[in-house]
Amino acid sequence: MSDKQNQIQQIVSEINHCERCELSLSRLNTVPGEGSIDARVVLVGEAPGKKEDELGRPFVGRAGALLDSLLDGVGLERSEIYILNILKCRPPKNRRPKKTEITSCENYLMGQLIVLKPRVIAPMGNSSLSYFQRKYGLEKVVIGDIHGRSFDIKTEWGPILMFPLYHPAAAIYNHQLIEVLRADMEHLSNIMNRI
Ligand code: URA
Repeated sequence: MSDKQNQIQQIVSEINHCERCELSLSRLNTVPGEGSIDARVVLVGEAPGKKEDELGRPFVGRAGALLDSLLDGVGLERSEIYILNILKCRPPKNRRPKKTEITSCENYLMGQLIVLKPRVIAPMGNSSLSYFQRKYGLEKVVIGDIHGRSFDIKTEWGPILMFPLYHPAAAIYNHQLIEVLRADMEHLSNIMNRI
């Protein structure tokens, strides 16, 4: 195993044993995230849902099916990118993550990102977006106003781009967003080919 893989594996094993917050009591499985350790782009969702909790993998429910079709539409495969969530355990009834849960989980997310060193972070949805805005001192603007645009951010591993996307689940309830997501994904894949 490469050094990078070892470091990722170490974080995954810490996540699997985590009892830092009460979500550890109700989870069936942790959902550490998955993808290529050489990924230049990391997509970051909010938190696992029911299916993800059952299977221990990110975006495997309805939102995941839509995400797969969006990736497929621009010729991308999951194996070329990395998919993470802000929280690694499912909040009961898919409620919004609490601030304390985000804080408890933050070291795992940042640990993973610092090992992966992506060139682009694509937060999906407002929860993930606002985490990165807070973290990197950006103005708080909602996803509807800044999706599909790239922002320079200075991370622990150097200057990279943040590219906010709508959360795929939003497009399940509002079909018009599917086309918006498709266009943004196309833009993201063009950026990937340039970096
Ligand atoms: N929604 C998320 O934010 N993450 C998942 O893994 C699944 C649904």
